[in-house]
Amino acid sequence: NTKRFQDIIAHCKEYGFIFPSSEIYDGLSAVYDYGQFGAQLKKNIKDHWWRWMTQLHENIVGIDAAIFMHPTTWKASGHVDNFNDPMIDNKDSKKRYRVDTLIEDFAEQLVDEGKEAEAQQLLQQMNELLKLNDLAGLKKLIEQYKICCPVSGTCNWTEVRQFNLMFSTQLGSVNEEATEIYLRPETAQGIFVNFLNVQKTGRLKIPFGIAQIGKAFRNEIVARQFIFRMREFEQMEMQFFCRPGTELEWYAYWKEQRMQWHQSLGIPADKLRYHDHEKLAHYANAAVDIEYAFPMGYKEVEGIHSRTDYDLRRHQEFSGKKMQYFDPEINKSYIPYVVETSVGLDRTVLMVISEAYAEEEVPTAQEGKTDTRTVLRLAPHLAPIKLAVLPLVKKDGLPDIARKIMHDCMPAFHCFYEEKDTIGRRYRRQDAIGTPFCVTVDYQTKEDETVTIRYRDTMQQERIPIRAIRDKVRQAIQ
Ligand code: ATP
Repeated sequence: NTKRFQDIIAHCKEYGFIFPSSEIYDGLSAVYDYGQFGAQLKKNIKDHWWRWMTQLHENIVGIDAAIFMHPTTWKASGHVDNFNDPMIDNKDSKKRYRVDTLIEDFAEQLVDEGKEAEAQQLLQQMNELLKLNDLAGLKKLIEQYKICCPVSGTCNWTEVRQFNLMFSTQLGSVNEEATEIYLRPETAQGIFVNFLNVQKTGRLKIPFGIAQIGKAFRNEIVARQFIFRMREFEQMEMQFFCRPGTELEWYAYWKEQRMQWHQSLGIPADKLRYHDHEKLAHYANAAVDIEYAFPMGYKEVEGIHSRTDYDLRRHQEFSGKKMQYFDPEINKSYIPYVVETSVGLDRTVLMVISEAYAEEEVPTAQEGKTDTRTVLRLAPHLAPIKLAVLPLVKKDGLPDIARKIMHDCMPAFHCFYEEKDTIGRRYRRQDAIGTPFCVTVDYQTKEDETVTIRYRDTMQQERIPIRAIRDKVRQAIQ
């Protein structure tokens, strides 16, 4: 399915969804810009998540913490010491690989050759070594299986080294006392350090949640697969604070809730699955990923973790500030337990586009002939443009009527006006960006104040009065 994936990437660029960053300078690896339609699609997904979390749950509030944080935050969170990926360099090609990706790719080859048992064994060994952080053992494993560099074809490797994924920069000018700080690799810590501020000012009672959407940065070694793995990306995270002992119930609740949310984006249930973690972090007592069947296979979109009181306890330790909550119901103080839901916004965009993208054969005006149309079958509430208003011709007052329709609808939802090209071509362009409705203003409109409305998915058309357009679209996008 690499072809389908390549087609999707090309489509995103051609139709103004996603461009390589600074493309005129040949781009920047694993960094992307969202164009006019991509930005709107992304915003619609973001708004949907925000509403779902903070409006439809009475005990969840949203915050917006800064990207820069006090450097001690990352010592407390464990990122300075543990946010590492083991990597290895090939001495001939000078290419750097993440050890797990190198081994996983090799295991995939084994599977292709029919050696499934061997692949399983290799992955199992790798996971053990990763868990023990046994770098020498990983190198031995690579040698034992004679895993070579896909570029040079040689097995001339350096030692396995740890590579911290955090980007650092200087706070303050170089002449002054500059402090090294990090660009946050996740948004969650902004929530943990504000736990007491929010709880006290909001007079929140446990259980309650804090939600946040924001940028995160990771210096990913192997950056590939388009917006699936980026160096600058966005996360939508929610930390749910609960009484110790109740966390597994809440974990089950959120697991279910989050699966429902993904389906509310128009993703069919049979393309989503849970993947339980084989290796739990030492502080977690349950962890699961929600995976989607991307064109390149099932991959993680969201992680749900029961993190015990690890994060708050660590911040209490490092800051010397009490992170406790007094629970009036049981008359006791404790550090709350946390269930976290963490979804990548860009990965969600990629999932939604991958699911929506379709190429299909459709009949043409010429008898017996067909044509291929590319359509994004986006859920109407996510589509960047909801309604395109198209005058049949550029004269005889039709553009004026069309403009009037558009101005009436604009306050309610995003509209698009276009008068160039044949109607057929204009429909196709709207299909390609996922616009669920097009209305065409023609000569009959002047007589009876009706237009032709055309539905993206069925391509069916019918006549409706101008005054019915706005409500019809509004209903469909709710
Ligand atoms: P992966 O194993 O794919 O690197 P992860 O387990 O490190 O991901 P988490 O730290 O749990 O990811 O982050 C939560 C979510 O953030 C992920 O499910 C994913 O959707 C998103 N995410 C993480 N890293 C990236 C990235 N480099 N680019 C885009 N999204 C990302």
